[in-house]
Parts: sequence; C-alpha cells; structure tokens
Amino acid sequence: MPKKSVAKKAQKKLKEMSQKLVSKKEQKALKKKAKDHLWMHAKSWEDMSKPDGIQIFTEADGTQITDIEGNSYFDIMAGLWLVNSGHGRQEIMDAVYEQMKQLSYVSGWSFATLPAIELATKLAEITPGSLNKIFFVNSGSDATDAATRMAKQYQFLAGFEKRYKIIGRRNSYHGSFSGAHSLTGSGFFARKYFEPMMPGIRHVPHPYCYRCQYELEYPSCDMLCAKAVEQEILFEDPETVAAVIGETIAGAPGVIPPPPEYWPMVRAICDKYGVLLIMDEVICGFGRTGKMFACEHFDVVPDIMAVAKGLSSGYLPIAATIAKEEVHDKFKGGWPETFQHGTTWGAHPVCCAAALANVNIIEREDLPKKAAKMGKYLMNALKQLESHPTVGDVRGKGLLAAIELVKDKKTKEGFGPDDKFNDVLNQNFADLGLLTRVRNYIAICPPLIVTKKEIDELVQTLDKAFTKTEKKLRIK
Ligand code: PLP
Repeated sequence: MPKKSVAKKAQKKLKEMSQKLVSKKEQKALKKKAKDHLWMHAKSWEDMSKPDGIQIFTEADGTQITDIEGNSYFDIMAGLWLVNSGHGRQEIMDAVYEQMKQLSYVSGWSFATLPAIELATKLAEITPGSLNKIFFVNSGSDATDAATRMAKQYQFLAGFEKRYKIIGRRNSYHGSFSGAHSLTGSGFFARKYFEPMMPGIRHVPHPYCYRCQYELEYPSCDMLCAKAVEQEILFEDPETVAAVIGETIAGAPGVIPPPPEYWPMVRAICDKYGVLLIMDEVICGFGRTGKMFACEHFDVVPDIMAVAKGLSSGYLPIAATIAKEEVHDKFKGGWPETFQHGTTWGAHPVCCAAALANVNIIEREDLPKKAAKMGKYLMNALKQLESHPTVGDVRGKGLLAAIELVKDKKTKEGFGPDDKFNDVLNQNFADLGLLTRVRNYIAICPPLIVTKKEIDELVQTLDKAFTKTEKKLRIK
C-alpha cells in the first residue's frame, strides 16, 4: 500500500522534526516550500518575503510556544484569543484519540453522536437563562452568520416577514465570511474588493469611550451610543429590523469594554421593538473575561449567542450558535419551519469530544475565577506602563486586556506605517521572547492558566520593549 507508507513516512518526519531541531538547511527548504505553497490568512506577500518573514512553530506547552529554530515565546495572545486552557493538555488529546478510534464522522445534519449530545447538554447547563438550544458550526464567522440567518428566519416564522435588517456596530469584528464581514464595522479586511456587502445591514457607533464618536465623556455622555440603537431602529422602521448584533466586549478592534449600563440599555431597546439581541461571545466566552460568558458581567441574556475559540481552546475547530428556548420554539414544526442552514462539519464528533474535554477542564479548574483574579493583577501591573509616552490607554476585563498605542497622548493620534513604531516594537517583542502582533494596540490575553510570576515577567518585558523602541525612535 504505497499511499499508507507515504503518509506514515510524512508523519514520522513531522514527529522527528518537532522533537529535534532541524538543520539550517532544512529550515531554509521548509521556508521556501511555505513561500511557494502556503497561503497564509492575514500576512502580506511582502511580509512573507522578508528574511524572517516565515516563522515555523513546532511545539507548545502551557503558555509557551517554540519555533523550529528552538526559540521559545510567551504566547501572550493565546494563539488568536483562544487557547484558554493552555497548550499541551493531554486530556483533550486523549479524548480526541478515543473518539477518532470509536467514530470519526457521521453527518451532523441528521444524526446525533455521543459527544455532540454531551457537549450540547453541557453548554445548555453553563450558558445563562434559557440559552438551551445548541446549533454547532465550525468557526466564529460561521457562528455569527448562522446567528443572523436564525434571527431572520425566526422573525419570518413569527409572522414578521419584513424584518430582515440587522444592526451592528462600527468598530466591530464578526468574522470574514461574506455575511460576517458585512456585519463587521471595522476596516481590518478591506470592503472595497467585495462591495456591495450583504444588504440590510446598518452600523451604529461603538461604546468606545477612549475614542467616543460623539466626542463626549462617560458618564456625562448620557450613553448616546446605546440610545443610537433605538434611533436606528426607529429610523429604519422597527417592522423591518430582525436583530441587533454586538461583541459583548469587542476584542479584535482593540479590546473595548462598554460601560456597565450599555448592554442592559440595548437589551431593553431590543425588547421594546421585538428585535432579537445577538451577542458575539466568540472571544469573550469560556472564562476569558472572568466569568464563563461576558454577558454575565452585565446581567443580560441575549436571544442568540455566538461562541467559538475558547470552546475548544483551539485544539480542534468548533463553534456554536446558541438560541433561547423561546427562539427555538418558532422552529418547532416540519421542514418549512426547520432552520434552513447546515454544514458538513457541523457537530463533528471529534471536535465535540475535544470541546467537551476542554470545557470540563475550564469548569474543574475554575478558569473563569482564575481569569478574574489574574486579570485584576495584570491590569494593576499594566497600569504602570502608562508612564510611557506611547501608551495611550490600558483597558480590559479579566484576561482580555489591551494597550492602545499613540504618537501623541493629548491628541490621541495613532502611529502610521511611516513612523515604523509598530515594526520596531514588534521586533523588540520577538527579540525579548513575546509572541504577539502589534496593531494600533497590543492585546494581552494569555492562556487562563497564567501565573502571577509569568505576569510579572511579561509586564517587565513589555516595559523593556517599550523603552527600547522609544529610545531607538527618539520618542519622549
Ligand atoms: N467574532 C469575533 C468577536 C471574533 O473576534 C472573531 C475572530 O476573531 C470572529 C467572530 C470570527 O471567528 P473565526 O475567525 O473563527 O471565523
């Protein structure tokens, strides 16, 4: 069986490569292969083509991740805001292996599996209120897409056939699929190549106090950003609006915790006009902000919740769109009432097994509580960096934190590519052993198992990197 032996050989080689450092020559060859064939998701060709443009990672444990050259880094973004339970959890690997041996696939369209049932039951138990109906999908973009389709079909089935509009927020991120990108109110992925975007989507201002769109200050602003949701619904005509969507605490646009009254106000507005509230917990969910779900900080239960990332801590791709019983009630019927949505990988049994093992760890080790405690410690430590001329704002909740970078603290002007600040800071982070990415902010959202000692070291290293960068660029 030549095919099998080729696969076995490749597997053996991968194992060997991750166990020992490969030679410089092999590294070079691998980088060439990567450049020739691997199309990375958000890396420019120019960046890929730089001498150190392709970094190959081979192993990770706890909060540390190691590249093929043997360099270890503190994974301060927990991958991409998701390795909540930490790298190298044997329990999750064992669950995956056992499930694969037992049953690697049956279609989740029409059949159930043991891990899918157990995971759905567990999610119903840990999510607030009557969020008891779990529709498994594969990624965060999938989950927000499915949430809006669910909201639209719900409204139709409830007799409101004209309610198709979705109100999102500016400066938001809900993913990169056509629907999710349309909901997204920030320009990380350019819109110009894809316009016209999905019709029927409107965007209102974000509760981003550091850069308030109304140029007001909290609390004298009178929460105009929340009131804007009502104004938009009225302007569009409530009879045409299906749902409002927002990240409970936006992550990718810069970690933006809203004021405490924001979500209760938006919840009340949605209820007043029969509009569903979708909360995107793709980053916030599974303990990241110091509660199992960030909506619990606000005492608000959405009608539909989107979760992904921390659901499996990145061990395998899985996400879910979770609906309240009352929403699901409208879908109780024959095929015409059935939710018109589905994917081949939805409720994949192996991914469900990985997620179940991961959620069990998060619960057993009470990682939400740990994130709350360590988050406070982290925030106090990060506040010490505010004396740097380039640190504009330090904010966050739990272990979801960020430092917003500015060229001028008074005007809050950010750095542009010509300033080279981000590139130099990024390089200094890498040289000092921190794996992250620098945008107009840096995110600090390590695995939830992070220790005080690691936080102390992390903040000292951030301090060093800022000092080095400011010195090199003569910023005072
Ligand atoms: N929603 C939020 C809040 C996110 O931060 C992201 C990704 O970062 C997404 C949705 C999209 O998730 P995915 O990249 O898994 O499609």
